[in-house]
Amino acid sequence: MLIYNTLTKKKEEFKPLNPPYVTFYMCGPTVYDYFHIGNGRSFIVSDIIRRYLIYKGYNVKFVMNLTDIDDKIINKANNENVDPKVITDKYISAFFEDINKMKIRKADVYPKATEHINEIISLIQKLEREGIAYNVNGDVFFDVGKFTAYGKLSGKKLDELESGSRVEIDERKSNPLDFALWKKAKEGEPCWDSPWSKGRPGWHIECSAMSCAHLGETIDIHAGGNDLIFPHHENEIAQSEAANHKAFVKYWLHFGFLNIKDEKMSKSSGNFFTAREIVKKYPPEAIRLFFSQTHYRGPLSYSDELLEAAAKGLEKISNLYEELLNRISNNEIGGYKPEFQITSYVQKFEESMDDDFNSPKALAVIFDFIRDMNKELSIHEKLSAEFLNDGKEFFDKIIDGVFGILPDRKNNSSNELTEKLIYILIELRSKAKAERNYSLSDDIRDKLTELGITLKDSKSGTTFKIN
Ligand code: AMP
Ligand code: ZN
Repeated sequence: MLIYNTLTKKKEEFKPLNPPYVTFYMCGPTVYDYFHIGNGRSFIVSDIIRRYLIYKGYNVKFVMNLTDIDDKIINKANNENVDPKVITDKYISAFFEDINKMKIRKADVYPKATEHINEIISLIQKLEREGIAYNVNGDVFFDVGKFTAYGKLSGKKLDELESGSRVEIDERKSNPLDFALWKKAKEGEPCWDSPWSKGRPGWHIECSAMSCAHLGETIDIHAGGNDLIFPHHENEIAQSEAANHKAFVKYWLHFGFLNIKDEKMSKSSGNFFTAREIVKKYPPEAIRLFFSQTHYRGPLSYSDELLEAAAKGLEKISNLYEELLNRISNNEIGGYKPEFQITSYVQKFEESMDDDFNSPKALAVIFDFIRDMNKELSIHEKLSAEFLNDGKEFFDKIIDGVFGILPDRKNNSSNELTEKLIYILIELRSKAKAERNYSLSDDIRDKLTELGITLKDSKSGTTFKIN
């Protein structure tokens, strides 16, 4: 399996440190607002990559941090005159609601910066002992000039960065590119005790400390959007490698932006849609399909037309799945096993995904599979159980398991069916009442109550509620 590594700028054979285990760290949201669908792209793409690794048999530990202390959080809390925790609690719950709606599997751990202050302080102390961190009146900075490999991820050279730097001159720093590890609190800001000052951690050190705490000093995969390559990930490397004297990450994965009119979707420029408004407009599977149609590294433009087209593509997927399920459950099974081998589609799907998670190619294989399978079903009234079950397995493991684009039609249709059955019982109960067969009408109501279904009679008829 090949993965493009931002660090080496080439596709490399994926060899985790300790197979079958894979350690995977993904930079998560700063929880001061609802996340936008551009963030959603990165979350969905990382979910699909994680699911594919699991499909391949790896035992993946997936960690996504929650940045719950930051200037934006403090500003919002001040504006709303509440404690920062009120803001972060609200948007952490919203984050979980939204990822759940988007069918994103939960991470194994969601470490919060505010719950890792001790680990962060220890890491800064280690950097101090290395002579690479310096304290200026309670603010601690990382001395980039002392980390010779600085720039290796982004390909930026220190001197070019310095001359082209638009970083504000800060007299406390020896080099304008030095970044804060610990920030001394201003009046009224949330703060923690530390050897340097009452203050709070910088953003970059959180990820170095939390990935080490949950995944160890060297991890297999670290991912995030392209915007994080510099300075965030560059700084993470500097901190972790200067402290531990070990490679921090084996494979760096970066995701292309979701753009609007060729501009990165972002909160600060105001050109964004929240993920929650988009999941109200389109099924989550359509959003996931839309994202998967572009390679994860490439840019993608937000498009209502493409989302609508993706929603239509879902019909093909669910229609065929229903048909397979019907044939299997109605036992419309005969001995005929068609020529075409489902395994060849599985193989092509894996070849595509093994080539740096080429999801557009993998989806083309899926749609070929659907087209060809439909052909077989239309020609043959009866097909072998093995063939039908293999077809179903392709849906369960790949279309649903890896991409998460199989609509929950089964549930919907079983809900509809339940509703229809309850109405039949309601009708039979009113017939029984009309015939004064009260023991039967009471029996129907009591049996439904036992199942948690309450009937409510009114002049206009009977309705029900499932508790
Ligand atoms: P943030 O909360 O801004 O730190 O972002 C959370 C994640 O979303 C990070 O991995 C970012 O790189 C990613 N991200 C932010 N904006 C976009 C975008 N327009 N397209 C894709 N990913 C993005
Ligand atoms: Zn991070």
